[in-house]
Amino acid sequence: ERQKKIRNFSIVAHIDHGKSTLADRLIEYTGALSSREMDAQVLDSMELEQERGITIKSKAVRLIYRREDGDYVLNLIDTPGHVDFNYEVSRSLQACEGAILVVDATQGVQAQTLANCYLALDNNLEILPVINKIDLPSARIDDVVKEIEDVIGIEAADAPKISAKTGLNIQDVLEGVIAHIPSPQGDENGTLRALIFDSYYDSYKGVVSFVRVKEGTIRPGMKVKFMATGKEHEVTEVGVFTPELLPGEALMAGDVGYITGSIKNVRDARVGDTVTSAVHPALEPLPGYKKAIPMVFSGIYPVDGADYEELKEALEKLQINDAALSFEYETSVALGFGFRCGFLGLLHMEIIQERIEREFNIPIITTAPSVIYNVFRTDGEMVQITNPTNLPSPTEIDYMEEPIVKASIITPSEYVGAVMDLCQTRRGTYINMDYVEQTRAVIHYIIPLNEIIYDFFDTLKSRTRGYASLDYELAGYQTTKLVKLDLLLNGEVVDALSMIVPEERAYVKGRNIAEKLKEVIPRHMFEIPIQAAVGSKIIARETVKALRKDVLAKCYGGDISRKKKLLEKQKEGKKRMRQVGSVEVPQEAFMSILKVE
Ligand code: GDP
Ligand code: MG
Repeated sequence: ERQKKIRNFSIVAHIDHGKSTLADRLIEYTGALSSREMDAQVLDSMELEQERGITIKSKAVRLIYRREDGDYVLNLIDTPGHVDFNYEVSRSLQACEGAILVVDATQGVQAQTLANCYLALDNNLEILPVINKIDLPSARIDDVVKEIEDVIGIEAADAPKISAKTGLNIQDVLEGVIAHIPSPQGDENGTLRALIFDSYYDSYKGVVSFVRVKEGTIRPGMKVKFMATGKEHEVTEVGVFTPELLPGEALMAGDVGYITGSIKNVRDARVGDTVTSAVHPALEPLPGYKKAIPMVFSGIYPVDGADYEELKEALEKLQINDAALSFEYETSVALGFGFRCGFLGLLHMEIIQERIEREFNIPIITTAPSVIYNVFRTDGEMVQITNPTNLPSPTEIDYMEEPIVKASIITPSEYVGAVMDLCQTRRGTYINMDYVEQTRAVIHYIIPLNEIIYDFFDTLKSRTRGYASLDYELAGYQTTKLVKLDLLLNGEVVDALSMIVPEERAYVKGRNIAEKLKEVIPRHMFEIPIQAAVGSKIIARETVKALRKDVLAKCYGGDISRKKKLLEKQKEGKKRMRQVGSVEVPQEAFMSILKVE
């Protein structure tokens, strides 16, 4: 039977454990691409992904594995490895019957090894552990086998031990997939239900949706319905990934492939949605559709106000491919017309910002990221605030709530103290601690999301010399005493610098930010007072002194070419300057307040 020769699987791993490299080797081994076409890390096609070495969007590729008993179709579905994209990971996993769990033999089980493995187990997947990087002298194969068995609780003695880099024992992985991962089931003649696990916009084909057909058959010409949005479309093409799109006649229950249907926006073909027949629709969608919810918000403004329309178009284009990105108009007294954008997390935010500048060539100013606060007003209503400027006045606020996460941190035992210290200063609440093995601990804390988005990960890495790993999941809201901290330049509140902070932190934070601003704001012809305030109360003050006449004079003497350079540099810098009232504020001022404790 057809389905017996199909395997649908993902690869999951902690970041850098070798997931993409293994995917490349599997593609190479099965000959899906000739070696000429074989560029390192084929699945990470976006330029940014390659540079950052991360997998942002999940992709799929069909491999043909030739065996004595016939050809097997192995559909490999790549998943993003970063917590920001956990939602997409879980969609991808639902398209599979099994997952390869890659563990780096020199690093062992890490926070996201556990998190991704649990995600796979939650989706009832069979797990095939694979121990990678055995070519390295520091590989601890036996220890890692034991770790997988003890910590995760799955059999690992027979796990393939490989080097994805050199290609050693890759066939063991393919055999492991056939032996351990179940073939798909589902009635090819049943009512159509197919899960969308990824979508992207193609300028020729429109939206291309990656689907896993669970029941029934889908063919070009069919009228289909997207169950979450209720939209109906005619299928124009179906096919598989080689990894190029290869059109075919049909996708049947158990198959993984793509469909197109002159759909203009990925929002109409959302990840997680179920495709069914418009003529004989299924009664129930496949389980688990959730809208991806943005958790981190920031203002994005053009440096040059004239770029506003272009910025809007850029965001619209990016959104066509990224349903998780949200944006709406916003105006700022300081920055003019711009957008309040919502992101899944900080990495997602950085990627979008970088793409606007790189792919669309629009210099932008971004304001400090914020989470969503629940504000309970004295009139009994609750409003959700993502921009500090919109916070009601203190007399109208009864109380406020902020989002919290459950963080799991795995660290060598010698850094347990440092990690706990960090969590404590980030307003964490200790839950518990276990040992992965004698020398490594897994620590659980409840931490406000707001503390995580401000360089928590970087600080964690530097305090543990890069050895600790972090994973977190949302854990609801908690009540916190919060206030709005304002910054004033030359006596005027700069709305784009306002932030919501815990009351107990306001004083220290206000003072540190004022000091930081003093460093980054250049001297003007006049003196600039910098003040931090909570409500009408000034809690800190610094001054940027006026330029002295003789300093200016000095600039005019001397070497011409040096002066030219200076002027050019100033011009370059100017691009990133924003006139706020009478003061020129550099772009870095808006982000620098992030790094202030
Ligand atoms: P991913 O984040 O899990 O996708 O990891 P990558 O596949 O991008 O690999 C991370 C790094 O580990 C890269 O520099 C790879 O070249 C390297 N790497 C992957 N597999 C091996 C291996 O088997 N041996 C060695 N020595 N390095 C490897
Ligand atoms: Mg990768």
